[in-house]
Amino acid sequence: MGVNYCNPLGLSVRLKYVNSVPLQVATVESKGKAMAEAQANIGVVGLAAMGSNLARNLAHHGNTVAVYNRHYDRTETLMNEHGDEGKFVPAHTVEEFVASLSKPRTAIIMVKAGAPTDAVIEELANAMEPGDIIVDGGNAYFPDTIRREKEIRARGLHFVGCGVSGGEEGALNGPSMMPGGTEESWKTLGPILESIAALAEGEPCVTHIGTDGAGHFVKMVHNGIEYADMQLIAESYDLMRRGLGMSAGEIGNVFAKWNEGELNSYLIEITSEVLRQQDAKTGKPLVDVIVDHAGMKGTGTWTVQTALSLAVPVTGISEAVFARGLSSQAEQREEAAKQELAGPEQRIELAQSEREAFIEDIRQALYASKIVAYAQGFDEINAGAKEYGWNIDQAAVARIWRGGCIIRAKFLNRVSDAFESGEANISLLFARYFKDAIASAQSAWRRVVARAAENGIPVPAFSSSLSYYDGLRSDRLPAALIQGQRDLFGAHTYQRVDEPGVFHTLWAAEGRPEIKQD
Ligand code: NDP
Repeated sequence: MGVNYCNPLGLSVRLKYVNSVPLQVATVESKGKAMAEAQANIGVVGLAAMGSNLARNLAHHGNTVAVYNRHYDRTETLMNEHGDEGKFVPAHTVEEFVASLSKPRTAIIMVKAGAPTDAVIEELANAMEPGDIIVDGGNAYFPDTIRREKEIRARGLHFVGCGVSGGEEGALNGPSMMPGGTEESWKTLGPILESIAALAEGEPCVTHIGTDGAGHFVKMVHNGIEYADMQLIAESYDLMRRGLGMSAGEIGNVFAKWNEGELNSYLIEITSEVLRQQDAKTGKPLVDVIVDHAGMKGTGTWTVQTALSLAVPVTGISEAVFARGLSSQAEQREEAAKQELAGPEQRIELAQSEREAFIEDIRQALYASKIVAYAQGFDEINAGAKEYGWNIDQAAVARIWRGGCIIRAKFLNRVSDAFESGEANISLLFARYFKDAIASAQSAWRRVVARAAENGIPVPAFSSSLSYYDGLRSDRLPAALIQGQRDLFGAHTYQRVDEPGVFHTLWAAEGRPEIKQD
């Protein structure tokens, strides 16, 4: 059923929707033009996949949603296809969009990250008034969010960088959201975001993360952990596929079984689905006809770059990013195939009776490595909070990741408990539950990494996580030797284990005493 909607600027659009509550588009005069009366409590700018789904989700939960897109055709498509799902107020111009919002005007931007976001912020800020709230729900790099918040605050408006996870499906049915910004903006925005967030055990998956860029920082680390989680799953698959020679479908069944236990998570669930999928064209497992070059959009790289600048070892995440990089080095990989580089056959020969036990070893190695990847991700959040002056509640972060987002997993309840109790204050690895979990998995973890190395199957995330764990538990590291080398070639000095102070040795002068520098 269609209705004619005459927008406030007099342009007539034929729409096929009818609101359950008909739009009451009263108009007021402003600057000589007819403008919409403020009636929407929230607005969305940018109506591609994410923005239109988020707008629909908002409308489904009783919000009146102003919608605007640079090119009107996307707005028209949204109204034609979904206009009857709730209360929308479509706008042709930013001015009209802003005029249709009630105060404090609150607008969520869902446009391409980077320069387009800056352009839209500028347009909105010009049309808005002090006290209004601009929310960037795109995947912004957190230093950009810090910069934007400062600029917008100087103009008397609030700016909230809000990480949104869960992809298009999450945006529509309930994402996990990580907003930054001021406490004051959270008072207005919080109830709106809570109305559309995913629910985990009845709790909305959204919390005020901290000021300025804190939300986008935490979303960035979320994505980094997602990279590590996916890489660990891929390594488990590879060990079964190439190592044990299992079929994709058989491995899909193993993942489905693992999903019933402590590994229960969205990523394990979709892995079993992907592996069981047959290609309609060839009848082969779909995974076998997909080119093995993993793509990336940059958030994993940002997580590693930021970790490097904060000197936080996020080895699992880094290896995951590098593994994607290696997979996409097409020229080198093609040449390597021609060069027939030396190595074992990439097959793990086991007696039938040992295979089941080895698959269980892989499961345990995956769980232990996953715990390390999360511990490292939270270390980065902790270091970021210290560096940028954010007061981030890590237990709350773990709770809002339990639903809606890509890394949603059963074990995040354990993570939030660990932070809640204070046991994970220094590292997640010291919390009783995780300490015990790794203690019982570590033998299997070592067997898997050793077998993989012996048989030439790459497991960069498994092995780097294990090395990190062993490094952490070492009383003494070979870093002492590195300090000696640094002092010899560069007089960088060192500290002694038996005496306070800073020392330098006159290396070339045999028998000469150390010179102490206080
Ligand atoms: P895209 O990233 O593909 O961006 C398209 C939208 O940006 C369109 O509405 C487009 O308007 C608008 N746009 C582009 N350039 C400009 C400009 N210069 N001025 C104004 N508007 C502009 O859309 P998605 O829906 O995929 O993602 C939106 C945001 O959400 C991005 O920041 C993305 O990183 C983030 N995100 C995406 C996820 C996903 O799974 N896709 C998950 C989480 C976050 P027009 O139609 O006029 O061209």
